[in-house]
Amino acid sequence: MGPRAVFYGGVLIALVMVSLCAISLFQSRQDALERARETSRNVALIAERDIERNFELYALSLQAVVEGLVTPKVMALPPDLRRQLLFDRAATAKNLGSMLVLDASGNVIIDAGNDKPRTGNFADRDYFKAQRDSSNTGLYISAPFFSRLRNGSPSIALSRRVSHPDGTFAGIVLMAIDLEYFHDLFGGLSLGPHGAISLIAANGLMIMRQPYDPKVVGRDISRASTFRQFKAASEGSFSDTASIDGVRRLYYFKNFPHLPLIIMVAEAEPDIYAAWHRRALMMGSLMGAFALGFVALSFVLGTQLQRRLRAESELQLLARTDSLTGLHNRRTLGEILDHEWRRAQRMRSVFSLLFVDIDRFKAYNDTYGHQAGDDALAAVARCIGENIRRPADTAARYGGEEFIVVLPDTSESGASLIAEKIRAAISGLAIEHAGSEYGRVTASIGSASWTPNQDTDVTTVIKAADEALYNAKASGRNKVASCHEQKITPRDPALPARE
Ligand code: GH3
Ligand code: MG
Ligand code: MG
Repeated sequence: MGPRAVFYGGVLIALVMVSLCAISLFQSRQDALERARETSRNVALIAERDIERNFELYALSLQAVVEGLVTPKVMALPPDLRRQLLFDRAATAKNLGSMLVLDASGNVIIDAGNDKPRTGNFADRDYFKAQRDSSNTGLYISAPFFSRLRNGSPSIALSRRVSHPDGTFAGIVLMAIDLEYFHDLFGGLSLGPHGAISLIAANGLMIMRQPYDPKVVGRDISRASTFRQFKAASEGSFSDTASIDGVRRLYYFKNFPHLPLIIMVAEAEPDIYAAWHRRALMMGSLMGAFALGFVALSFVLGTQLQRRLRAESELQLLARTDSLTGLHNRRTLGEILDHEWRRAQRMRSVFSLLFVDIDRFKAYNDTYGHQAGDDALAAVARCIGENIRRPADTAARYGGEEFIVVLPDTSESGASLIAEKIRAAISGLAIEHAGSEYGRVTASIGSASWTPNQDTDVTTVIKAADEALYNAKASGRNKVASCHEQKITPRDPALPARE
């Protein structure tokens, strides 16, 4: 695995870990919302049940009074007995205000609290007008008002119509409910620091809201966008930002099935997500730090691996090259020869080899010193390297001042041409050599070409090239000679050799 792969692999793993963490956090955020929705629904249900049950009792009590009023025997009783009979024990329930019977002009005629009715006229109240103006209003739930008989305490009233036998309006029976009842009920339900619970009349009047604000009671919210949503379905939930405080809340609302009332429960999103927020912050930062650490570790590992690989390849290169000339060393030459020979065997192609030996090099060393000898050797090596062009051609230092050039898939004439080019180039370097008959550094080259068959191996070719080299030396040095004992089989026309 490469250093980049280590680094990118590390980054990928870190990304996967961060994504998994993000997915799980997102999931738990959804769970928190779902839980809040469930809580709101339960809270609304508790409030709704309590209100419905109480209102049902109140409605029954009112109904009993209406029925008693039209019974002559009851009306004939003395006031104290009549009062006991008309108003059962519901009238003494906590948070229940006055329970009164009003005549057709709105005056109090019977008072559940006193044998002698308190004086008062309530013809101006909506609960009176609604019954007077229509005979089929049924149970009426009034708008909030401040009680005139009970020191202005905020209340709502339930009223029922009392009719004469001919159906004309005789008055009403009313029961006032202290808003304290809703205040207590809502106060006992916990909805977080910024939560709210409201009871709203179906016509849009706010009856009670927790947290309690006297200014809000009785306010008409029928034009608010939230209220329109309450009316659109019997129950539901939605998120909205409250214009009063700018806090985004999850609203749950439900229209009472039997009463013209709507209960609304709102939980603030900051409250819903508070615990999640803390956990997300902790998990997120831990995960982020962990992922960053992981990426950093991958980076360090990657660079170390890169350094190591580079060192290894440098070592490998060093082990394969000759330090003085930069050409392949003898060991590498062995591998190359082996490889190319077998390839030539497979392809049945001509395999050529040049044996290059510097002329009178001992004398050069003796005259110019060993250091100058090294420099000349390096110059000759460079010259050989520059004069072979094909990628498969390779030059190696065979030993001392001797070099071998491997020319795969090259014919005898092609090899001789290259050999001649090298020879001329070395001579062309014009390195002064007083001990040479040419006055400059020259080299003799022996060339051998072979088409491998089962009976030959590469040493045969080397030996042949060495023999050719001997001939070149013998014929005056600075010469190219080819091996005469070639056993070249006819070339495969499909694999043309280089000319
Ligand atoms: P010939 O023309 O017959 O090849 O004569 P020659 O002197 O080149 O041949 P010989 O084999 O007698 O001498 C080879 C000399 O090459 C011996 C040594 O002084 C020199 N030599 C071999 N390797 C190195 C080397 O790495 N550095 C230097 N400076 N000289 C080397
Ligand atoms: Mg030699
Ligand atoms: Mg020599």
